[in-house]
Amino acid sequence: MAGGYVYGASRQRAPRPEPRPAESAAPSRPCFTPGAVHPAPPAPAAAHLPWHSPTGDRLRVQRHTCESCRDTSFEYGLIGGRYRIRRTVRRPSGIWTVHETPAVRKDVALWWWQGLLSGQAE
Ligand SMILES: [Zn+2]
Repeated sequence: MAGGYVYGASRQRAPRPEPRPAESAAPSRPCFTPGAVHPAPPAPAAAHLPWHSPTGDRLRVQRHTCESCRDTSFEYGLIGGRYRIRRTVRRPSGIWTVHETPAVRKDVALWWWQGLLSGQAE
C-alpha cells in the first residue's frame, strides 16, 4: 500500500445525486400504524414499473403499504388469477391519482413488489 491512493476515494467524493422530490422519501406525518410496511425511497437508478391508468377492476388486496403517514401508497393483489400493483397518490388538494401495473404472473408481480419496497423500482 504505497502512495496513499485509496481506490474508490474519488467516487466517494462525487456529488450525490439530488434527492427526488418524492413524496414517499420520508414519512410526511408521524406514523402510528404498528407493523405498517414503508417502501424505501426510490434509488437513482430505480426501474420504472409499467404504470397505466386503472382498469376499474376490483383488486383483491393481499399486501399494502402504509397510507397513514405517506401520500403514496401501494397495494398488491389478485385479479382474475393474475396479480397487479396499484399505486395511489393523495394530493393536498384531495385529488387521488391512481395507476396500476398490468396483471401479470405472481412471480413477476412479487418481483415488482419487492422492488418497490426496497427502492429498486418505482
Ligand atoms: Zn406509516
